[in-house]
Order: sequence, then structure tokens, then C-alpha cells
Amino acid sequence: MHIKYVKSEKIAKFIIKWKLLVSKYDLYFLYPPLTIVYTSPPMSEKMLKFVEIGQQNPPKRDKNSRKEDFKEIYSEFIKGKANEQSSRCSQCGVPFCQVHCPLSNNIPDWLKLTAEGRHEEAYQLSQSTNNMPEVCGRICPQDRLCEGNCVIEQSGHGTVTIGSIEKYITETAWENGWVKPIKVINEINQSIGIIGAGPAGLACGEELRKKGYQVTIYDRYDRSGGLLIYGIPNFKLEKHVVERRIKLLKEGGIQFVNNFEVGKDATLKELNEKHDAILIATGVYKAREVNLPGNDLSNIFPAMEFFDCLE
Ligand code: SF4
Repeated sequence: MHIKYVKSEKIAKFIIKWKLLVSKYDLYFLYPPLTIVYTSPPMSEKMLKFVEIGQQNPPKRDKNSRKEDFKEIYSEFIKGKANEQSSRCSQCGVPFCQVHCPLSNNIPDWLKLTAEGRHEEAYQLSQSTNNMPEVCGRICPQDRLCEGNCVIEQSGHGTVTIGSIEKYITETAWENGWVKPIKVINEINQSIGIIGAGPAGLACGEELRKKGYQVTIYDRYDRSGGLLIYGIPNFKLEKHVVERRIKLLKEGGIQFVNNFEVGKDATLKELNEKHDAILIATGVYKAREVNLPGNDLSNIFPAMEFFDCLE
């Protein structure tokens, strides 16, 4: 809760009269004595705007520019738009967006903070349950998860554009230097080897490093990120977004060993002897069988085999 102390009764009366700073502070106290002089307006004045404000996504980039670079399709929200679109949320008692989020992200609360222009707090809350909100904001299948189950979508008003807002607050956080590398105060004298630098390996590595462990992540490819780098094309997720996150993990003390294939460059037993524990975070390159007629014909290949050719 944000509290503002004001020393003079005159200022307090002025605030009450003109409702100054109401979006920043929840309570105003007279000091001394500690007397409540004003509380911020009820939530309904800031939120529940879906009745008057229509759903809007960030604009698509012009197709001629997209043809030239194949970079992300959507531009960023401008600041005012992200705040406005967040204010459409109805702050449901049972937020189905959160219920259907695999990470249980605290979506209604960070939407409210964004609507109030409290972007740093919105980012802090969003990253508290998510190791890479800038990635989820871009590539999560929101239409089947949070946005698909949003209560105002179900009632025909068009979902809150949760993914684009998540991307906006995280990009704002990067721009403003609010995304910081891990700081380990007491390093534990134990090391963990993680096999696989995909999203699972990166997220586990970050959590273990936060606890103070020495972490080394091995990957057989020349770049870390797994399918975030080798599977998802730039028009959904540009590579610099993933590389920026990996750089941050390196700054936090995580070691990366690339071009290292377990079974070729070292055996699992050798790695096990080198570290106190091993985490195997691989497997996503295994293609899923499609039960379609003709699946077993010659020259039918799983798409996964082509993914590591992508730039
Ligand atoms: S379900 Fe939709 S309207 Fe309800 S809290 Fe989540 S985002 Fe807001």
C-alpha cells in the first residue's frame, strides 16, 4: 500500500478538495497527529472500463517493412494504450485468466498496477512468478489460456489483451533498468550441472542460482535458448530478446557451456562426478507422432528436424 504523509492541514484539505495524486497513493495521513484524511477513489473508477473502452491490440507493422526483415509482426503498445487496455479488466473475484495460466501469474493485480501507471511494481509482480515474462508475452498461446478464459471475453466484450500488456510492462522494465542480474550474497559450495539450455534449463538455473548454488548449463548447440532460438521464428520472437535474458543470467554468475554434447564430449557419469547434482532438462526436440494416414510413407519427416536450421 502506498501512503502519503502530509504535515499541514491546509495541504490535506487541498488534496481532498482536488483529489491530487490519487493514482499514486492509497491513503493520506495527517502527520502529526496520524489522521486519515483521504483514501483513493474506489477501484471501479480505475478499472472495469470494458463497458466503455473497446479491445485493442498493438498495431501490426506495415507488411512492406515486415517483408524486408521478417521481424516481429506487432509493434509495441504506446504507454497510454497499455494503461487504458489494462483498465478494461473487471478484477474478477475468481480470475479465470490466472486459473488457466500454467504459472498462476497474478494477472488481475499487475493489470491494476499498470492501469494506475505503476509499471515498475507491475513488472516486479509479474516477474515474481515468471522467469521470462517478455517471452511469455510474445509466444504463449494466450487465446487458449488466460485470454481465452477471460471473463469479459466469455461475456462477449473481447478479452483484456493480457499478452501484449505483459510484453509492454517487461519491455518498459528492460528500458528503465528494472531488470537486474541475480545477486548472490552467500554462495553455497555445491554445484549443479544442467543439461539443456532451453527455457526449462534456464528457469531452473535461475532459481537455483538465486538460492546460491553454483550453476553450469550445458547445451549441444552453439547458442543457448533451445527452441526459443532454434524453433520459434523471428516474426514471433526476435533472437535478441532471448540473448538479452541469457546475458543477464551470465551476469548473475551462471556458467554456460555450449557446443557440448553429453555422450560425446563427456559421459553422464563424468558430469555426475564433476557436480553435486545433475538436472536433465532436455527432450523437447522429440517430435510428437501424428496419427494421420500416410504418416509412415517414405520421405515424411518430422518438422522438428528442420528447426535447428532456422535463423
Ligand atoms: S478474467 Fe479477465 S476480466 Fe477477470 S481478472 Fe482476469 S483479465 Fe481481468
